Amino acid sequence: MKPENYFTKINIFTFREILLAWFDAAQRALPWRGVGDAYAVLVSEFMLQQTTVVTAIPYFERWMRRFPDVASLAAADADEALRLWSGLGYYARARNLRGAARAIVELHGGRVPSDIQALRALPGVGDYTAAAVASIAFGISIPAVDANAARVFARLGALPGHAKSPTLIKAARTLAELLIDPKRTGDFNQAIMELGALVCAPGAPDCGACPVSEHCRARRAGIEREIPARAPRPEPVAVAAVAALVRHRGRVLLRRRPDSGPMRGLWELPGGNLKPKQKPESAAARFISEQTGLKCIPEKQIATVRHTFTHHCITIHVITCATPAPTRIPAAFRDTAAWTAPARINDLPITGATRKILIKINLI
Ligand code: SF4
Repeated sequence: MKPENYFTKINIFTFREILLAWFDAAQRALPWRGVGDAYAVLVSEFMLQQTTVVTAIPYFERWMRRFPDVASLAAADADEALRLWSGLGYYARARNLRGAARAIVELHGGRVPSDIQALRALPGVGDYTAAAVASIAFGISIPAVDANAARVFARLGALPGHAKSPTLIKAARTLAELLIDPKRTGDFNQAIMELGALVCAPGAPDCGACPVSEHCRARRAGIEREIPARAPRPEPVAVAAVAALVRHRGRVLLRRRPDSGPMRGLWELPGGNLKPKQKPESAAARFISEQTGLKCIPEKQIATVRHTFTHHCITIHVITCATPAPTRIPAAFRDTAAWTAPARINDLPITGATRKILIKINLI
């Protein structure tokens, strides 16, 4: 049976009523909710791509204190935006959010546009983010369907396909278009997101506590735990890497990652991935030379840190190296390498792996 046949006009109306009444009573008080600020909604939606609500809240509050409006973010230094994002991961989001603010100033007079196409044209704004901002901030009638909402719709309509498959996302969007309440579009989208976060959780939906269980096709068929089907997972890849700790008068040698590739522009200890059979010590000396222009003699391994990045499980060998002579960083490297006091490191956008290492060896 097609979802549109399963959800008749009458139970669509009841479904909306029950869902929205539940949302009115059960929604969490979140700092970006109900503030009537499209910029705050935009910031929250960027942060919530790949990040949970609980993790995002302190970052959101810090971000809004420093960049309270589009203009302040558009005028901000890229490094400062990255530093405030440091720890949230997926740093392209921070760069894109700043790019979006600049585009809003240049093209829309500093006001977040309400038009879906104009939103979609902003850097880092995809179909979901554009729909979420348009519906939540401006009441435009458009469903916002990300992986979380797709899971809820998949169960409500017992839709086939695995969690990230385009077929499932498309079918979920079609069902969302059928069910969305045109009078409260932003609340409807948020109610689905909230239901997915609080009740219709990925592994174990709490159907007993679900306000719309009567309408749920998967629940009726007793297959709610099997929907959506599991997406095939990429095999984890083990990677060995080295990070060099070089100190001079209490300061630590850091290098800035290139402006292209992963973790663009972030600071880190010199280092990189090891080739098969390569010794961490000799690799450390080579990376320091290539990345900072300094010549160092490796000393010993002082720690091993494990770090996960996408599906890579990285084992990082931390090697101390003797202070180079001379210590002056060659001119060609002065923009991308620096002796940095530990107290200043927290002011820099640094990689998650470097933060982990510096915490482990009690430097920050
Ligand atoms: Fe999800 Fe269960 Fe509610 Fe269906 S009844 S929407 S599976 S929590």
